[in-house]
Amino acid sequence: MTQQDTRLQLDRDHIWHPYTSMTAPTPVYHVASASGVMLKLADGRELIDGMSSWWSAIHGYNHPKLNQAATDQLHSMAHVMFGGITHTPAIELVERLLKITPEGLNSVFLSDSGSVSVEVALKMAIQYWQALGKPEKNRFVALRGGYHGDTFGAMSVCDPVTGMHHLFNPVLPQHYFAQRPACRFGESWDPSDIDPLEAILSKHGDSCAAVILEPIVQGAGGMWFYHPDYLKSVSALCKKHDVLLIADEIATGFGRTGKLFACEHAGISPDILCLGKALTGGYLTLAATLTTDKVAGAISDGPAGCFMHGPTFMGNPLACSIASASIDLLFESNWQSRVAAIEAGLKKGLEPCCNLASVNDVRVLGAIGVVEMKDPVCLSEIQDRLVKHGVWLRPFGRLIYTMPPYIIDERQLQKLTTAIFQTLQ
Ligand code: PMP
Repeated sequence: MTQQDTRLQLDRDHIWHPYTSMTAPTPVYHVASASGVMLKLADGRELIDGMSSWWSAIHGYNHPKLNQAATDQLHSMAHVMFGGITHTPAIELVERLLKITPEGLNSVFLSDSGSVSVEVALKMAIQYWQALGKPEKNRFVALRGGYHGDTFGAMSVCDPVTGMHHLFNPVLPQHYFAQRPACRFGESWDPSDIDPLEAILSKHGDSCAAVILEPIVQGAGGMWFYHPDYLKSVSALCKKHDVLLIADEIATGFGRTGKLFACEHAGISPDILCLGKALTGGYLTLAATLTTDKVAGAISDGPAGCFMHGPTFMGNPLACSIASASIDLLFESNWQSRVAAIEAGLKKGLEPCCNLASVNDVRVLGAIGVVEMKDPVCLSEIQDRLVKHGVWLRPFGRLIYTMPPYIIDERQLQKLTTAIFQTLQ
């Protein structure tokens, strides 16, 4: 056995990967390094990354400016607790977030991961209503086809059937689910699309703390792009029925849909906003939950006198420094035209897939391209073929999709879309 074989054997025998079995593991590819848009495998092969490491590495890998931010911060401190202590990296990051996020979101809670930022959002909503003397408002309304993370509270607002968590339904708090919006992004709006959500709020609004949704793009629950008027209507209905609106922009934030935040497509601002993934340009795990003075004030003046959450690694300085550098980089990078060019390249490159008998639908929005098959794909088989074409993608269910780093060039993008077409063909 070579050293490489021994390592892979140890991985197979002892390491759990996301959503995998220990007794029948799916193959893993050993990445030795990554730079720009390319992943370099231990066997020397190079792959164009079409995943941005699950939407996060928007600037590509091994970026000199992000490396510099990490190195500079390491020289002063990698971490310090956030209870009773503050530091410049957190202050500078929050200053940037206040400037760029939808208006009115003035209080920022920094946490470790997307799922935790959703837990924080749900807890904020519950504490808000408790503080206002309405503890009975403790249910949530979520959308079918939605995905918000893997922890217990987050699981309870994921699609209860297709959301990968149905196994846990018996032990999860029960919430309300509205049909997913049918009107597609870029097509005509039918006001009746909002009826299922309106019916739930009319009947159960008095017991609901908030509506939680992914604005415009439902990600891991089905890669579905819906009409901005749906989001506008949800925002109006939340006000009418006195429930909060939580926008989970963990996947859509930082330009992925063509707007800096997907809420901007509808011109709305939520009561609570969750950010993660691309916040650090994919370098470190960090998330943020932002809320309004109204919510933060009520929680703080309520019976608890504080917000009841405080993770060990809250506001990690290393992650905060890189996040500030990543946001600066985004604004220096002419990201709008880059995302628009990726959108055009994906539309052109994936169009031939529409003619394949096995394909049900092809859709593109911003730097997201999706090919929906009629039947589920065999992940290991299709991944192996994509790797042979020199690209890295991670299909799931019936979906082969890509959201490449914004720095991908025309030739690389063409290679990516050609690989998808040829693999499906
Ligand atoms: N919300 C959305 C919309 C997501 O796409 C994800 C991750 N796929 C999460 C929440 C959970 O984030 P994390 O994996 O960082 O916990």
